[in-house]
Amino acid sequence: MRTVHHDLNERPFLLVWEVTRACQLVCKHCRADAQFTPDPLQLTTEEGKALLDDLAGYPDGRPMVIISGGDAFERDDLAELIRHGTEAGLPISLSPSVTPKFTDERLAELSDAGVKAMSLSLDGATATTHDAFRGIDGSFAESLRAADLIRKHGFRFQVNTTICADNLEELPQIVRTVRQMGAHLWYVLFLVPMGRGSHLSPLTPEQEEDVLNWLHDVSDWIPVKVTEAPNYRRIVLQRDAEADGEIARGGNPAPPRGELYDRLLAETRELLGEPERVRVRRPPIGVNSGRGFAFIDHVGHVHPSGFLPHDAGSVRDRSFRDIYREDPMFRALRDPSGYSGKCGVCEFNDVCGGSRARAFAMTGDPLASDPTCAYQPRGA
Ligand code: SF4
Repeated sequence: MRTVHHDLNERPFLLVWEVTRACQLVCKHCRADAQFTPDPLQLTTEEGKALLDDLAGYPDGRPMVIISGGDAFERDDLAELIRHGTEAGLPISLSPSVTPKFTDERLAELSDAGVKAMSLSLDGATATTHDAFRGIDGSFAESLRAADLIRKHGFRFQVNTTICADNLEELPQIVRTVRQMGAHLWYVLFLVPMGRGSHLSPLTPEQEEDVLNWLHDVSDWIPVKVTEAPNYRRIVLQRDAEADGEIARGGNPAPPRGELYDRLLAETRELLGEPERVRVRRPPIGVNSGRGFAFIDHVGHVHPSGFLPHDAGSVRDRSFRDIYREDPMFRALRDPSGYSGKCGVCEFNDVCGGSRARAFAMTGDPLASDPTCAYQPRGA
């Protein structure tokens, strides 16, 4: 298991700054419920630079910063902000939308400003399904064009996919498209039913268990990163122990893999063939909402995650570093022994802890058990 070697009580490993909520797309699963025009209260250029200075001020290393939206390309000062951050020493990557603002010139400008990595979204394997998710005809074709531009400029390239009941059956075909796009990493987000996504259905616990097991196998074809399903880390430990004829952490055996897992894996083999070689799997890292991860919204409010709307205060009033370290909810999220239900007693809660965002979205309590995990800890 890849681990973080600094104190997550002091400094996040990774954070997302939503620089604007403006976006020209109308994606079905949009967390932010993005709007066509920017909020007049979004952080100004100078406030954004002050935030980046604050983030760069950690004495013992700097968090990775992902700039997102809305659509970050809606900000005319984007390159200026990024140049300021990278010159201060922050590693910055970008997660824009594919719209007419995604141009060759813009990418050249951002490369020059110091961006090293960029991601695109792909939520269906075909124009029909992807465009239906994105709410704009032609979005699939434009995403393929955008992938070519990203590779042309030499960015590390990640494709983001939100998994829900609507695209479950297409997953093997999506993996094939992700590989055809030339991605270095497939970033898989399990739907948190909030914002516009509250009308979509997350997977059942049994489906999630099968898909996470399938993702463990998919990482033989392409490196995979999983978000809002931290029980993937439990599955990695269980599968590794299973391969050695052991049971991970003295817990219960994993639930049996089901028919969905068999079907997804068979179709993946049919589409991709056997992996050319067994890759070194990209092991998951034990960060979670508020525990190594934080989200700063467009008006400067700090949250444990973009999917967990606890408001810990504004960077207009206090330093991000103080908010992250001292907010009582952030502190509670960093202590899995205080979670209620099975996540509180689980053998894996120090590396997993469950999706705190999904616990909140589905129960109203961010410290409740993750309702989409199929595992039964010994003590539960
Ligand atoms: S019970 Fe909770 S902590 Fe344990 S694996 Fe499931 S989600 Fe993770």
